[in-house]
Amino acid sequence: MNREIESIDCPTSVEIPVTDKTSMTENQKRERIIELCLQMNSSGLNQGTSGNISARHKASMLITPSGIAYERLLPDDIARVSLEHADLRWEGPFKPSSEWHFHKAILREKPEIDAVVHTHSTFATVLSISRSSIPACHYMIAAFGGNSVRCADYQTFGSPELSEAVLQAMQGRSACLLANHGMIAAGKDLNNAMWAAVELETLAKQFYYARLAGTMTLLSDDEMSEVMDKFRDYGQKER
Ligand code: 13P
Ligand code: ZN
Repeated sequence: MNREIESIDCPTSVEIPVTDKTSMTENQKRERIIELCLQMNSSGLNQGTSGNISARHKASMLITPSGIAYERLLPDDIARVSLEHADLRWEGPFKPSSEWHFHKAILREKPEIDAVVHTHSTFATVLSISRSSIPACHYMIAAFGGNSVRCADYQTFGSPELSEAVLQAMQGRSACLLANHGMIAAGKDLNNAMWAAVELETLAKQFYYARLAGTMTLLSDDEMSEVMDKFRDYGQKER
C-alpha cells in the first residue's frame, strides 16, 4: 500500500461537522483533486481513467473531467458544475465526469459531505460483483455511519438511475458499493474522502478473505452501537 495514501489524515470522529467549510481556495481544491487522482492510481486503489473525484466549492462542485488521463490534468481542466440547478450546467475546457449525477446528488442531499471519491478498487468491486454488502465484520464499518456498507443496485454507469440507487444505498451512510462497478466513499473534505476510500477498500479486502477463510462472527447491533458511541469521542478533539 502506498505510503502517501496511508498517511492521509484519518477522521477524528465519525460525526462529520455540517460546516466543513474548508479554508482551501478553489485553486487549492483543484490542485488537491489532481494530487489525489494521481495517488489513487499510483497506490493501486484505482486504474486508468476509471474513478472520479469531486469537491464542493460554494454553490458548485469541482469534478474531474471525463476520460482524461490523470497525469495530464491541469488545475484549470477540473470542471465546475452548478449544484443549484437540477440540469447539468458546467464550465471548463472538458466536459465533467460521466458520473456527475451521483456526485451532484450526494453533495446536494448531504450537507455534511464536501467531497466524493469513486473508484473501481479491486476488492470493493469483487464484492460488488457478488452484489454483496459489507456487514459488521470489523468495528471500522462504523466509520461509514452504521453497521454495514450497502451495495447499490446495478444501473448503467453515468445514468440518473445509478444516482437514485446510490442515494438509496447511502441512506445514513457515507459510502456504498456499486453493483458490478466499484465503490463510492464520501467525506467532510477531500483528504477525509480519500481516507474513507482507502478504509473501505481495506474493509472489503478483510471481508473477502474472512469469507474465504470460513465461519465468520459478525459484531452484534449492541457491540456496534458501543463502537459508534466511542467513535464520537475518538482521537484529538479540537479544543
Ligand atoms: P469518467 O472518466 O467519465 O469520470 O468515468 C469513469 C467512471 O468510473 C465511470 O463510472
Ligand atoms: Zn466508475
